[in-house]
Amino acid sequence: MVTFLSGGTGTPKLLSGAADVFAPTETTVVANTGDDIELGGFLVCPDLDTVLFLGGECLDTETWWGIADDTAETHHELKQLADAAGLGTGPRYLSEDAQINGRYLSQWRRFSGVGEFMHIGDRDRAIHLTRTGLLDEGHTLTEVTQILSDALSVPWTLLPMSDDPVTTLIETPNGTIHFQEFWVANNGEPAIEAVEFRGAERAEITQEVREALSQPVVIGPSNPVTSIGPMVAIEEFRAALANTPVVAVSPFVEDTVFSGPAPKLMRAAGYEPSTAGVAAAYPFADAFVLDDDDGTQLDRPVVRTDTKMDTDADARRVARAIEKALNMVS
Ligand code: GDP
Repeated sequence: MVTFLSGGTGTPKLLSGAADVFAPTETTVVANTGDDIELGGFLVCPDLDTVLFLGGECLDTETWWGIADDTAETHHELKQLADAAGLGTGPRYLSEDAQINGRYLSQWRRFSGVGEFMHIGDRDRAIHLTRTGLLDEGHTLTEVTQILSDALSVPWTLLPMSDDPVTTLIETPNGTIHFQEFWVANNGEPAIEAVEFRGAERAEITQEVREALSQPVVIGPSNPVTSIGPMVAIEEFRAALANTPVVAVSPFVEDTVFSGPAPKLMRAAGYEPSTAGVAAAYPFADAFVLDDDDGTQLDRPVVRTDTKMDTDADARRVARAIEKALNMVS
């Protein structure tokens, strides 16, 4: 049995070709929910959804989010209406009062549906509406994720990191904004003064996550701040990682990142934007998989391979390196 921790790109890329090395029936994936957002009344869970759609073989692998060949009629209509009404198409937060008095899991991340600043496809929307309907009927996010996984025939066990709200907020010189406003609406451009995982001190892990973290853990290439940060901000999550073998794949080659906003976020969180910084952010990691071209010297065992993943064969090669690293520390 093995457990993968996942954001929305790196670990999903790895999972897409890892099945020959790590049998899906013996694989659990724990996904970040810090990026989640309530939009027009429904809860969107971007990282859970990427893994769900990947497992359901309907993921758009050009973007690594959304459903392949999905239409977006409702989304376009919402934007047109907002535009015609002079309401703009940027993020519109609900009132401060509504942020804490609405649906429990949506705390501190509630946006109005006017304009819809995130692209939501039509089939994609059906997933969010079903998820939210089941939550409102009284199911936990863990239960809902299992129901959706079964419906899409996802081959591995998929778990949200917690059934409690943890919300990633970015403090900028102009005020605190939700991560999705920073990343989707503002292209990651605002200066970052700090990153907050609101709710983490009160959040708990579920029994399912507790059991998953008692198995060897793989941290696929991930943004250490916004994908793994919300998980390890939960005390019991962090403690569990310290007590089990953990192998992490670097999302950098020395100080060159493969993609995304990790360098800027790492700098803001006080880490060097590099493989060395990733190792500093992961004191619980027992071994690392680094790229052949990454000469970083670490104080823990390292397995090197070509870590660039464009195809399933690439992912299989990285999975084999992970297996080797796990064998060194298990
Ligand atoms: P997000 O949820 O989409 O922000 O992304 P993740 O947390 O999954 O992080 C993606 C990280 O994976 C980025 O920091 C990239 O540098 C890294 N990444 C993307 N593609 C590759 C790849 O092919 N190989 C490796 N080693 N890292 C990658």
